[in-house]
Amino acid sequence: MFNIQPLPSNPAPLQRIDPLLAEPLPITLYLKRDDLLHPLVSGNKWRKLKYNLIVAQEQGFQTLLTFGGARSNHLYATAAAGQLLGLKTIGVVRGDETALLDSPTIRFCQAAGMTIHQVSRAAFRDKESPNFLAELVQLFGPAYILPEGGTNDLAIRGTAEIMPEIIVQLGTAPDVVCCAVGTGGTVLGLAASAPPQTDVIGFMALKGWSPPLDPAYPNLGYQTAYHFGGYAKTTPDLLQFMVDFEAETGILIEQVYTAKMLFGVLDLARKGHFKPNTTVVAMHTGGLQGRPHPHPLSL
Ligand SMILES: *Cc1c(COP(=O)(O)O)cnc(C)c1O
Repeated sequence: MFNIQPLPSNPAPLQRIDPLLAEPLPITLYLKRDDLLHPLVSGNKWRKLKYNLIVAQEQGFQTLLTFGGARSNHLYATAAAGQLLGLKTIGVVRGDETALLDSPTIRFCQAAGMTIHQVSRAAFRDKESPNFLAELVQLFGPAYILPEGGTNDLAIRGTAEIMPEIIVQLGTAPDVVCCAVGTGGTVLGLAASAPPQTDVIGFMALKGWSPPLDPAYPNLGYQTAYHFGGYAKTTPDLLQFMVDFEAETGILIEQVYTAKMLFGVLDLARKGHFKPNTTVVAMHTGGLQGRPHPHPLSL
């Protein structure tokens, strides 16, 4: 048996959001609460780690090694999962991030037992190269390697479990499922498991890039207009939206992914993008460790 018991069991609740921001909208909106999957191994990062953790243990690895930046939810989730499962964790980070060792994310990772290994900017850029990986194995011993952001085939197998849960919880296939996109692993899993009548919309959290459209996923599309200046950038409008949404619903969100996606969903709804009475399921992908404390406007 694989030792995944300390980690969360599915499914995460599906919650109707109604009334919304005191404003009737021509859609029925649900939030898939993957933020509630686990307090530390949060949201889509748990989905993406799940089968990787099973395979790592199946293959006898005692160490997880991965990559990230000063605010990486993936690094945070990997450190927490490693601690829960009794696996050593190594976090390879760019050494020239000056604020790095002071970041709450990195401090959490270290407190959870992760060894933080700082490397040069050039080495970090080349982190997938066989030579660099061999060097890391020399230093730290055999390790199960997870890519930066956590997206690989096993991650997509995990995120492909979300859609069937939604369909069971809703009692029918949703018209539209919306999800924030970083590396794209979450939205690809949703699209891979979507029935033909369900559209999947990925909202880019980064500026100026979206994954190429793939004929294998005809119901997957991307919205690129809701990046708010770029990855982890915010605007007063976005932060005010977070304040209003949180006050109205009692559900905390964060500004890097879910707030941008929800802002986009409501903006599109207001502009008539969805047919009347469309059922939209928006993914709460978690990541609340990165939410500004105590309040969005404190950012
Ligand atoms: C990482 C992350 C995403 C992006 O997921 P990808 O699979 O990389 O596209 C979305 N939301 C939150 C909260 C995240 O931490």
